[in-house]
Amino acid sequence: MVNCAKSEDEPSRSVIITLDGPAGVGKTTAARGLSDKLRFLFLDTGALYRAVAVHLLRCGISPNTQTVPPTAIDSLDLRVDMGIGAMRVYLNDEEIGPLIRAEEISAAASKFSALKEVREALLAIQRTTADQHNTVAEGRDMGTVVFPYADVKFFLTADL
Ligand code: C5P
Repeated sequence: MVNCAKSEDEPSRSVIITLDGPAGVGKTTAARGLSDKLRFLFLDTGALYRAVAVHLLRCGISPNTQTVPPTAIDSLDLRVDMGIGAMRVYLNDEEIGPLIRAEEISAAASKFSALKEVREALLAIQRTTADQHNTVAEGRDMGTVVFPYADVKFFLTADL
């Protein structure tokens, strides 16, 4: 039998809502809107992959690489400042805002995001970031890999 009663001792934990789906379906727009409505913090994980791409390019690593050297992962100093419907990303204390939207960074982020080392490094960062706050997280692997324990999971699709 399942015991659904919440123990008095059970610590209250933050609520996580995930939005998954392929590129271009409107995950970011929907997540931002949900964050605004619910007053939850907004986690745009694509921005983190883009920030990692900036870092790796600055380290002189080609987006065509098959592996990322551990030194490049160890020197990643990424800080995320989540807000309602907005998020800021800092690399070595520099806010990298508009830079991560450049065409070159989009292409590099897409390639670097396929690498195991990059996904592993970002897994921990994403979980730690969302740990303490009610969060709406969007990205292609939110409900499956990063927050399998999410309270509410959406999967968005759209026709062409
Ligand atoms: O969503 P956005 O275009 O900002 O994502 C940048 C890149 O990071 C894309 O290539 C996307 O596939 C990748 N990404 C990912 N996993 C996520 C979020 C983004 O691989 N959770």
